Amino acid sequence: MRAVRLEGVGSIALREVGKPSAGPDDLLVRIEACGVCGTDRHLFHGEFPCTPPVTLGHEFSGIVEAIGTAVSGFSVGDRVTGDPNIACGRCPHCHAGRINLCYNLIAIGIRRDGGFAEYVVLPQKQAFLLPKDLKPTHGAFCEPLGCCLHGMDLARIKPGSSVAVLGGGVIGLLTVQLARLAGATTIILSTRQASRRALAEELGATATVDPSACDIIDTVGGPSGLLPGGVDVVFECAGVRETVEQSMRLAKAGGTVVIVGVMPQGMKAEFEPFDLLFRELKVLGSFLNPFTHRRAADLIASGAIEIDKLISRQVTLEEAAAVIANPPAPGEVKVLVVPR
Ligand SMILES: [Zn+2]
Ligand SMILES: [Zn+2]
Repeated sequence: MRAVRLEGVGSIALREVGKPSAGPDDLLVRIEACGVCGTDRHLFHGEFPCTPPVTLGHEFSGIVEAIGTAVSGFSVGDRVTGDPNIACGRCPHCHAGRINLCYNLIAIGIRRDGGFAEYVVLPQKQAFLLPKDLKPTHGAFCEPLGCCLHGMDLARIKPGSSVAVLGGGVIGLLTVQLARLAGATTIILSTRQASRRALAEELGATATVDPSACDIIDTVGGPSGLLPGGVDVVFECAGVRETVEQSMRLAKAGGTVVIVGVMPQGMKAEFEPFDLLFRELKVLGSFLNPFTHRRAADLIASGAIEIDKLISRQVTLEEAAAVIANPPAPGEVKVLVVPR
């Protein structure tokens, strides 16, 4: 079969590899769609730990082609989404229910072969059923949505809360939709890209801000800003230094900052510790998708999350390596790899 292989830092290519087979506890899944994520680009550039050679792709769904002898609850022909993050179940963090912090975490598409291929091997404990009538492309959004759900859980948004989302990529635009579902009444999204601001307003943002055209701190939290004093919850969804620094200044006293964006390892940002102390800010890291994949799949199956508008384009396996090796096109939200 064909698979997109990361062979080292800066080296990625489509290769012909052996078709895998399902072990006793595994499903063999024929990929319908697999999303290209910022993390794939970080992996290509050596900015996120991994162990090449490996087939990338951790945001996938597809159709069960074969099942192992010990599998129950799944049948050939089922549509499934895979939670790529495999926790060991035996380490102190797993025993404490914090599976995203597992000492022995192995992610499909990072530490073992993933979904930019015709087939992937998926352990049954990582598999979740999707409806047979769901659009084949929508299942690929369960993984990013699950990561956003963890951020939402940490943020403890209440009906009437005010929210700022920094970054208009897929994580930011999913977070806008979840904040709306959670009852936030003011949702401000900040991004430099006009097309993403327009999309955010369609998806539930009550206001958008172009941070390159104004002083965002003043525009949002200044005396005559959108929310004088700042917002209850800020989601940092861009993973760049400027937005990390802005996030702490946009939160109001007693507010919460949730860092969801994945930044390159080694990146530094500046903040004023006195500000955290004096204004009692809560700054929370949100890593991966612990116990949220089922809810993400249910949300997507329900149709409560707008997905089609987030799909910028679909590409073939042949085109995938070039997409990952290059920066996203302006305004692009999510590129899906759809094997033929
Ligand atoms: Zn991802
Ligand atoms: Zn563990």
